[in-house]
Amino acid sequence: MKPDCLLLKLGELTLKGRNRSRFEKAVLRQIRRVLAPFPDLRYISEFGRVYVELRGVSYEAAAAALGRVFGLASFSPAYTAPLELEAVRELALQIMLALPKRPATFKINARRVNKTFPHDSQQMNYLVGGYVLEGCPGLTVDVHRPEVELRVELREERALLYAESVEGAGGFPAGSSGKALLLLSGGIDSPVAGWLAMRKGLELEMIHFHSYPYTSERAKLKVLDLARQLAGYAESVKMHLVSFTEVQTAIHAAYKENLLVTLMRRAMYRIAGLVAEREGLQALVTGESLGQVASQTLPSLHAIGNVAQLPILQPLMMMDKKEIVRIAERIGTFPISILPYEDCCTLFLPPSPSTNPNLRVVEKIESGMAFLPELIQRAAAQTETLIIRSDQKEEREHHLL
Ligand code: ATP
Ligand code: MG
Repeated sequence: MKPDCLLLKLGELTLKGRNRSRFEKAVLRQIRRVLAPFPDLRYISEFGRVYVELRGVSYEAAAAALGRVFGLASFSPAYTAPLELEAVRELALQIMLALPKRPATFKINARRVNKTFPHDSQQMNYLVGGYVLEGCPGLTVDVHRPEVELRVELREERALLYAESVEGAGGFPAGSSGKALLLLSGGIDSPVAGWLAMRKGLELEMIHFHSYPYTSERAKLKVLDLARQLAGYAESVKMHLVSFTEVQTAIHAAYKENLLVTLMRRAMYRIAGLVAEREGLQALVTGESLGQVASQTLPSLHAIGNVAQLPILQPLMMMDKKEIVRIAERIGTFPISILPYEDCCTLFLPPSPSTNPNLRVVEKIESGMAFLPELIQRAAAQTETLIIRSDQKEEREHHLL
C-alpha cells in the first residue's frame, strides 16, 4: 500500500501565542526547503500540523528528506478515501492488514470535521472498528492502551486515515536561537556537537584550523565534506578556514613542554573568538566531552576556556563516546570522520600532555611570547571563507581581508 498523503506534526508543545506561530512558520519554511526537489507536492497547513499531498511522489523519499527538519516532532504516512462509510471501512481494514507488525490490540479514533457526514465520531468508532475486527481474526479492542491507534479524520472533502507515527528530528527550527561559530575538526565529535547545536535552533558558521603544508589538502577536503553533510540540515553554512601553521610553529619554537597543547588550544580559541566577533556570532560551539583526553579534564577546560569572551557551548560534555558515535552514524558524518587524515592538533604533540594545567603558569609562559598577539590577529584576519551547500559540490569562494 502506498500512502497518498503525509501528516506532519510540528514540535515544542510548550510554545504559545505569537512564539508558536513564528515557530510554525519557521518549521514550515524548512519543510518546504527539504521537499523542494518534489515540486508536485501540495501543502495544507492548520493548527500545528501540515498535510502534504504526495501526488505521486514516493513516501520514502519525502520521509528521508523530512528527517532533516528541526522542529518537526513526528510525521505519519496517511491514506485518503472518499467520504463514504464503505470506502472508509475498507481502507481502515487494508491499513491494519498492511502494518509491518500485526498488533494484538487496536482502537479507532475518529474525528468528524465535516458535520454533514451522517455518522458522528462515536458511531464511526463502532462502525469502522467492528468492520476491522471482522476482517482481522484474533485482534481485540483496547481503548486505553491499544498497540495501534487508527485515526480516522472525516475532513471537508475526503477521509484521511493513519496509524503509524515516525519520530522527527525534534528541536527548534533553523536559526531561531541565534548564531554561533562551530569549531569543526575532522574528528567524530565536533560534527555531532554542531548537529546538536543546529537542532537547538542555532544557525552555524564554522571554523577549521589547518596547518598546511604539514596537514594535507585531503584533510581539508574531508572537513569540507563534513561541513557539507551538516549543511543538509540548514540552507547553507559559511566555513572559515584558518591557517594555523605560523602560530603553531612559533609557539613550538618557544616552548615544547607538557603545556603545549593548552597553549595551542588557547591560541585556537582566541582566533575563533575574533572571527566570531567579526561575523556577529554570539557563541562558540565545540566538541569536548569531559575526561575524554588530556585537554578535556576540568583543569584543562578551565585553562583553555578562560580565554573566550563569548559563551562556549559544548553539547557533548556529559555524553559517552558510544552515544556520540550513535548520533554520528545517524546524521551521516561517521564514515567521513573515520577517514585517516591528520589533524593539525596532532602536530608537535608533547610526550605527555598535562592533564592538570595551572592557569597562572600557562599565563606566565604566554606572557613571555611577545610575538603571539600579532600572529593571532593575523591568522584571524586572513581566513579563507567558503559558502557550503549540501546540494552542490562547488563553493562560491571569497577571501576576506
Ligand atoms: P573531535 O572529535 O571533534 O576532533 P576530539 O575528541 O579530537 O574532538 P580535541 O582534539 O580535544 O577533541 O578537540 C576538542 C574540540 O576542539 C573539537 O571537538 C573541536 O570543536 C575543536 N577543534 C579541535 N581541532 C580543531 C581544528 N583543527 N579546527 C577546528 N576546531 C578544532
Ligand atoms: Mg580531534
